[in-house]
Amino acid sequence: MLKILLVIGVIAFVYYFFIKKKPLINSHKKDDTKLQSNDMIECSTCGVYCEFDEAILSNGKYYCSTECVEKG
Ligand SMILES: [Zn+2]
Repeated sequence: MLKILLVIGVIAFVYYFFIKKKPLINSHKKDDTKLQSNDMIECSTCGVYCEFDEAILSNGKYYCSTECVEKG
């Protein structure tokens, strides 16, 4: 009877590890949503939307290109 309890304990231990790993995989998948952090910003001069990483910040305003910075 003790052997059965031991086997059940081992299975429960393995099962617990297997279940515990799943949320970690899911949380890792959520990290992929960081790709959506590329916010689109409207150019103050021409109104064109460009990615935040490519936008140029000048005098507290965002521009799509250096040309628009000069015009603005
Ligand atoms: Zn522009």
